[in-house]
Amino acid sequence: MAELDRQGGEIGIPGDWTYASAPESRDIVQIAERYGHFVGGEWHEAAETYETIAPRDEEVLAGVGQGTPADVDRAVGAARAAYADGWSSLPGSERAKYLFRIARLLQERSREFAVLESLNGGKPIKESRDVDLPLAAAHFFYYAGWADKLEYAFPNRRPRSIGVAGQIIPWNFPLLMLAWKVAPALACGNTVVLKPAETTPLTALLFCDVLRQAELPAGVVNIVTGDGRTGAALVEHDDVDKIAFTGSTEVGKEIQRRLAGTGKHLTLELGGKAANIVFDDAALDQAVEGIVNGIYFNQGHVCCAGSRLFVQESIYEPLVAKLERRLETLRVGDPLDKNSDVGAINSAAQLEKIRELVASGEEEGAAIYQPPCVLPEKGYWFAPTVFTNVAQSYRIAQEEIFGPVLSVLTFRTPDEAVEKANNTPYGLSAGVWTEKGSRILWMAQRLRAGVVWANTFNRFDPSSPFGGYKESGFGREGGLHGLEPYLEFEQ
Ligand code: NDP
Repeated sequence: MAELDRQGGEIGIPGDWTYASAPESRDIVQIAERYGHFVGGEWHEAAETYETIAPRDEEVLAGVGQGTPADVDRAVGAARAAYADGWSSLPGSERAKYLFRIARLLQERSREFAVLESLNGGKPIKESRDVDLPLAAAHFFYYAGWADKLEYAFPNRRPRSIGVAGQIIPWNFPLLMLAWKVAPALACGNTVVLKPAETTPLTALLFCDVLRQAELPAGVVNIVTGDGRTGAALVEHDDVDKIAFTGSTEVGKEIQRRLAGTGKHLTLELGGKAANIVFDDAALDQAVEGIVNGIYFNQGHVCCAGSRLFVQESIYEPLVAKLERRLETLRVGDPLDKNSDVGAINSAAQLEKIRELVASGEEEGAAIYQPPCVLPEKGYWFAPTVFTNVAQSYRIAQEEIFGPVLSVLTFRTPDEAVEKANNTPYGLSAGVWTEKGSRILWMAQRLRAGVVWANTFNRFDPSSPFGGYKESGFGREGGLHGLEPYLEFEQ
């Protein structure tokens, strides 16, 4: 290396090869100073607003409406009217046309959406551009295909729409979660009132423009922004027939309590603490990529993140060494830079939660590793972190951190791996890395998780159902299964 450096110096080649920044231009996005609520196809002034910011530098992006119970009531009224006035009786093939249009518009405007998603949420542009946007469009395409085939999807069960769906989504995949919820609801003939997360409302508000371009009938999709109080008002509204919620287990439980006995339909997609299990016969380099993708993708703000890594004892040392080396190559920085692998933490509150749990890991006795990296001074940032020497009882092995923090544990036998992996109140996802197909099937049968990935992680497809066991919730999104929560069936 010294020799190369010397030669490089002589012939004018720099010895230190760093990445030049490659910022995506934000000029493509027009952000209004102030947003109201989108109800009945029109914008309605919000009486009260709050500021939404860019987590990368705390820049104020816009004022956004804080929805009141009266705003929610108006939105539910608009959704009910649209349901009764034609949307529910529109032939499936006609509903499909709107969904296809929305999908195509999302594709056409994908760069604009991706920039806005990264700006408002903090995720790296390469993720919003290559994952969130293509998947959001794919969900609309996929459910457009089902809209006129519900009778075939559920033969002899006479499916029919439910009515008005209240949908509450989180901040980690703002547009994608919107797509997961809105596409199947509309395909099945329901109308929607959606509440985006408080910190990430902007792509949902831009989506209203897509709805207008697609000429979706007024009131079929209504968007009311605000914090948890707006969500609670939606949950409690008497004229909502179904609630679909994605978010924390705590709020999910609260919603379930409130809806008990009301007869409203409910699906909950809640937290997770996924086990990513690596056997000694796995291809280690590929496994390391899967581990990195499993926990550092979207700064670990992923409900199905592989946050507990179980390594077979015989490969523990080489695997951890490879992992730590790989972490040194991750670039943490500006979400709008195409070179960034890890972006900004979504909010000050989430950063605080991550710091608190990481401190608990150190206090309880785990060994922390963070690669050398310079974090920007402004904004919310946390370095990719690996904990070794972790016991099952530590909080970092039990609680959802929802940040770029991995806990490494070990096992000796497949039985032990299953027992440890299932020792969690959650059950959303799991990963298995091994060369043996029979072992993958053996593990998948025993892991109490809604999704089990084999020799990959965090892979999504609209045709594949996703959802949890235990405290990770109930109901499925995606695939044929994702239609069912938006339908009633004649007995
Ligand atoms: P929440 O569960 O509070 O938020 C999810 C959505 O529910 C948001 O739109 C939120 O609004 C809304 N909401 C909050 N309170 C209520 C209520 N009482 N009734 C109806 N809706 C409500 O998650 P947080 O954003 O507070 O995150 C906390 C933790 O939850 C994270 O640290 C993470 O561990 C976990 N989480 C898990 C997610 C998952 O996909 N499984 C997604 C997000 C978080 P508002 O945005 O205003 O709070």
